[in-house]
Amino acid sequence: MFIGDSMTEIEKKINELRETLRYHSARYYNDDAPEIEDYEYDMMMRELKALEEEYPQFDTADSPTKKVGGKADNTFESVVHSVRMESLQDAFSRDEIRDFDKRVNDSVTTPKYVVEPKIDGLSVSLEYRDGVFFRGSTRGDGDVGEDVSGNLRVIHNVPLKLNKAIPYIEVRGEVYMPKKSFERVVDRQLLNDEKPFKNPRNAAAGSLRQKDSSVTAGRGLDIFIFNIQQIDGAELNSHKQSLDYLAELGFNTVPFYTQVDNIDDALKEIERIGEERGNLEFDIDGAVIKVDDFSQRDILGSTAKYPKWAVAFKYPPEEKQTILKDIEIAVGRTGVLTPTAIFDSIHLAGTTVSRATLHNQDFINEKNINIGDTITVRKAGDIIPEVLCVNEKKCDGAYVFPTVCPSCGEPVIRENDEAAIRCINSECPAQLLRNLIHFCSRDAMDIEGLGPAIIENFVDNGLISKTYDIYNLDYEKIASLEGFKETSANNIKESVEKSKDNDLAKLIFALGIRHIGAKAGKLLADYFKDIDSIMNAAVEDILEIDGYGLVMAQSVAEYFSLAATAELINKLKSAGVNMKSKTVIEDERFKGMTFVLTGTLPTLKRAEASKIIESFGGKTSSSVSKKTTYVLAGEEAGSKLDKANKLGITVITEEEFMGMVK
Ligand code: NAD
Repeated sequence: MFIGDSMTEIEKKINELRETLRYHSARYYNDDAPEIEDYEYDMMMRELKALEEEYPQFDTADSPTKKVGGKADNTFESVVHSVRMESLQDAFSRDEIRDFDKRVNDSVTTPKYVVEPKIDGLSVSLEYRDGVFFRGSTRGDGDVGEDVSGNLRVIHNVPLKLNKAIPYIEVRGEVYMPKKSFERVVDRQLLNDEKPFKNPRNAAAGSLRQKDSSVTAGRGLDIFIFNIQQIDGAELNSHKQSLDYLAELGFNTVPFYTQVDNIDDALKEIERIGEERGNLEFDIDGAVIKVDDFSQRDILGSTAKYPKWAVAFKYPPEEKQTILKDIEIAVGRTGVLTPTAIFDSIHLAGTTVSRATLHNQDFINEKNINIGDTITVRKAGDIIPEVLCVNEKKCDGAYVFPTVCPSCGEPVIRENDEAAIRCINSECPAQLLRNLIHFCSRDAMDIEGLGPAIIENFVDNGLISKTYDIYNLDYEKIASLEGFKETSANNIKESVEKSKDNDLAKLIFALGIRHIGAKAGKLLADYFKDIDSIMNAAVEDILEIDGYGLVMAQSVAEYFSLAATAELINKLKSAGVNMKSKTVIEDERFKGMTFVLTGTLPTLKRAEASKIIESFGGKTSSSVSKKTTYVLAGEEAGSKLDKANKLGITVITEEEFMGMVK
């Protein structure tokens, strides 16, 4: 393949591949925001591996081919895995699976295999002492992961107590986001004009590594357990036996695992799982073949990265060609115009698809997409279809966005630093509708019964034309509408009334101010305490809030300077909507202080300690710096304690802390 290439060129190519792989590995593992498909990544990894094998003089121990991807950053405490959490070697064809079988048969005789679906999530370890869960961690780089116990506790299928109180067990499993939860989370993100997760794997990883467990709890994660890492209290000889034992202990084990006698049957099983793939409630990215017998596994051993007794067969992404019939432009809550490709339906990874997002004008230009073209559509992560490329052009050039808003007909603009084209007419009906939906949604004013379809119905029937009309609904008219009765109208009335009592933070978020999400809304409400102070605040005042930057502060000030905002707030006020923050800080003894928590505290959970600190006006941070006031350290405090000592920061125990808050 590289005949004629000079050695320097080969070395350069190897280094380029390593750099690119490291870059994408960081986007995938650290940011949960991959920029390329897994398949592309895997193919690059293969190319690098082949080159390193062919030119061993350029092979290095720190190459991505030798490393388990991911690392533990300092958001959570580190956990050193006493049994390495390895990766898996992969195979993309039947021949490669047969090669694996040959390698296994070179070392052991008549191996039996277990075949399982390869769940597309993220790997975690769960540890139990005397049958009670005490710690859970991510894989990290295989040797050191992150302690995410608090977030694992809120996952329904993580048992906190086992059916048998065995002295010790560490199991390994895959946390994943079921397809239904993923759709719900993405819908909510789109509604809030947030960047949606790319696929359920990234959504699961992002949700598990949240600092606030209640966010994790709301994401609907689940887990499958597929391995015993170490055990004290039972003798097990095979994988099949251990999976059955895990189920007895109360774990949700990896579904439909099958024991087979030879590689032919394993291949049949892989095919069967592949056919089922689209019908499953969760994403899989392959099937895993594992040698069943533990004594055979011991003989086979491991490389630096993966066990030699297992192989992952990766199903290739499904792609199909179709004709692009139309490009639909939708107007979002903040006026952003989003293009969607409408094409002749195709069957992809178990479902029928006929639409895919085209993101923005830049994406359309880059792929040179236009109506009538033959396009290739691929289903990424099994869920979101995407347009991969144009195969045949019907006419020259790429589709150009309309210059006026398809909803209100006003001219649209593109700001210099943005990819998005937006309608800036505050009276635009499409924006009003999206704003209303956002206003009533759960994280905003939480008005049960006022979902998207009903809001649209009320808008169409002239019951709502401005956001504040929600508080002046004609319930008699609602009761007379088709599909409504007096009781349903009353239920809506009750939810609307209840929402008047919401905390100011919810109202701020509900207003849908650009760049201001739920968290920023809370910061604003807690800092200024009431709406009038917010309305009177200048950009400099808002910038005083820890966590606010210039763009956010300017956005808030600009929003509250609009005449339409003043009208809205006045109407909401006269309707009786609460305009005050409900977070009461009576005692501000920790005002201006920053605490860092580290290690295991004797009695308090970290979340409890953080709550106490915040209730006294203090802040918590995940990393130690010169700005840290106190480090509250418990048992097994690690690098944060070292850093605190180095910087001369006062370190306190839980007892001392409790003394401070008495
Ligand atoms: P892997 O995902 O290919 O396989 C190992 C993982 O499979 C284990 O960590 C384990 O948790 C999981 N798994 C799920 N079900 C299992 C089962 N039944 N039995 C055993 N293990 C099971 O390897 P990896 O090292 O975690 O990740 C590498 C993969 O990540 C690449 O192949 C690539 O597809 C993807 N990746 C993509 C990008 C990108 O930019 N798109 C970047 C980096 C990595």
